[in-house]
Amino acid sequence: MDDEWICGRLGEDEPWVLGAVNPPVFENSLFTFETAEELGAAVKDEDERYVYWRGTNPTVDLAQRKLAALERGERAKCFGSGMGAISATISSLVSAGDHVLVLGAVYGPTTQFLRYLEKFGVSHTHVDDLAAGDSAIRPSTRILYFESPSYMAYQIVDITEVTAWARERGLLTVMDNTWSTPLFQKPLTMGVDLVVHSLSKYVGGHSDLVGGVVVGPSRLVRPLALQEYQLYGAAMSPHDAAKVIKGLRTLPVRMAAHQERGLAVAAFLEGHPAVREVNHPGLPSHPGHAVALRQMSGFSSLFSLVLDTESREQVGRFINQLRHFRIGVSWGGFESLVNAPALTTEESVRVTMGIPVGLVRLSVGLEPADTLIKDLGLALEGMSA
Ligand code: PLP
Repeated sequence: MDDEWICGRLGEDEPWVLGAVNPPVFENSLFTFETAEELGAAVKDEDERYVYWRGTNPTVDLAQRKLAALERGERAKCFGSGMGAISATISSLVSAGDHVLVLGAVYGPTTQFLRYLEKFGVSHTHVDDLAAGDSAIRPSTRILYFESPSYMAYQIVDITEVTAWARERGLLTVMDNTWSTPLFQKPLTMGVDLVVHSLSKYVGGHSDLVGGVVVGPSRLVRPLALQEYQLYGAAMSPHDAAKVIKGLRTLPVRMAAHQERGLAVAAFLEGHPAVREVNHPGLPSHPGHAVALRQMSGFSSLFSLVLDTESREQVGRFINQLRHFRIGVSWGGFESLVNAPALTTEESVRVTMGIPVGLVRLSVGLEPADTLIKDLGLALEGMSA
């Protein structure tokens, strides 16, 4: 199946859509039945049957079918946020006494959630590579959790190598694929068991949506859809599902533009004397570039650079002089964004994560690359003034 067709048309030629170019948004919180027995039967399968919004909904279902097809997975479950998907997925796979291995840097709140699970007797260990994984693994280890590219440093994990390692040791793998979108990387085809995404980034694309998804085989997705999805209640609303469906329509063209503009900006920064390093896996100088080319079909436009300074004041001057990058959290929208952990993250967290003072994260939006490059050039010059 062709990804562009999945994004634009999959599931949209069915009778219930009535030929509308945008499928109807089912706004009702509940569905009714002819008999009590029919309701009773439906309640037993609230992932497949429409009963109540917190279980599922036809508009949400359509978004799920598209996302499952894009990831080459059997089944997808959409959540009210990326963290909703991540916390429900991890919870569904562990019990008291279990252990989770985390490979490389991952999104901060994912680590916070793993810390939170300690009160239920679930422990975790962060490791930087598989050799350290071999020392940290325990008989109680159930999951290997990772992102590729990794959080903030954008290092590449060799997905095929990692999933083979985990399989040999009887671990399930869960990977956050938000950076690449389901267009540019398909981890399930490389042996990952469950893929999670924040849909709040490129998939939504317009910074007007918070959502998440988990994709994988029915045997793993269905139990969590029936249990953690229902009990934690981080359900996706049909309105947000409609935004996901709209976001997917333009995802292929937006990602092509993000890739081109992100790489142009990264290449400019790499040659600048005030920049120590640029962490963008699409640059040939990136240590993971060869593996990235093997496992990804494109590059998004979120990356970091390290300014040649140890001064927080200089980092602040650089950021505050930017006119076309707006200062804010999140990423993957039409608008370019900038953030610097040294100024916005608790100092102890920055140090624990090994993030340099001069690290600046850029999310390159859909503005012309020339405009963004000029903006960055002026801010770099003005940084030491
Ligand atoms: N995964 C990554 C890599 C993220 O950057 C984020 C949010 O920034 C999330 C997951 C969480 O997604 P959400 O904000 O939709 O809960």
